[in-house]
Amino acid sequence: MAEKTLNDLFLDTLKDIYFAEKQILKALPKMARASQSEEGKAAFLQHREETQGQIERLEQVFELLGKPARGKTCEAILGIIAEGEEIIEEFKGSPALDAGLISSAQAVEHYEIARYGTLKAWATQLGMKEAVVLLDATLQEEVATDEKLTQLGEGSANKKGTRKSA
Ligand code: FE
Ligand code: FE
Ligand code: FE
Repeated sequence: MAEKTLNDLFLDTLKDIYFAEKQILKALPKMARASQSEEGKAAFLQHREETQGQIERLEQVFELLGKPARGKTCEAILGIIAEGEEIIEEFKGSPALDAGLISSAQAVEHYEIARYGTLKAWATQLGMKEAVVLLDATLQEEVATDEKLTQLGEGSANKKGTRKSA
């Protein structure tokens, strides 16, 4: 068996995040529907649009590698999304629902930030300049989304979820 290199690791991880982005694309409209605040709904829908573009960027990276765009099951994102669904289920109709949705969405963003940060570093190491630009563009969107979610949480959702008299 041939020795595996950073090239193999890069391709495997690219497949992992490609699978993850497609799952996220399906999860975001559900989170938008569940959100009680209009701001939250708008944020989830806006990020769904961005996610579509991110999937296209990944397809461009596959193309640069001369490989078919194919996903590889990512158990981590399935678990993170399942936890989010659990919150939607268990906090339906409660004032803390939006705080829970934001926390789930941030878990997703943090996973993506970890993945894109690594992919960008590896693409740099491998001398794949065009891939670095594509991966960095997505990384910046994930970071901006994470920051926006923090603002939504600290701006209103966390307060709303706190019991006033206890
Ligand atoms: Fe993404
Ligand atoms: Fe994964
Ligand atoms: Fe994201």
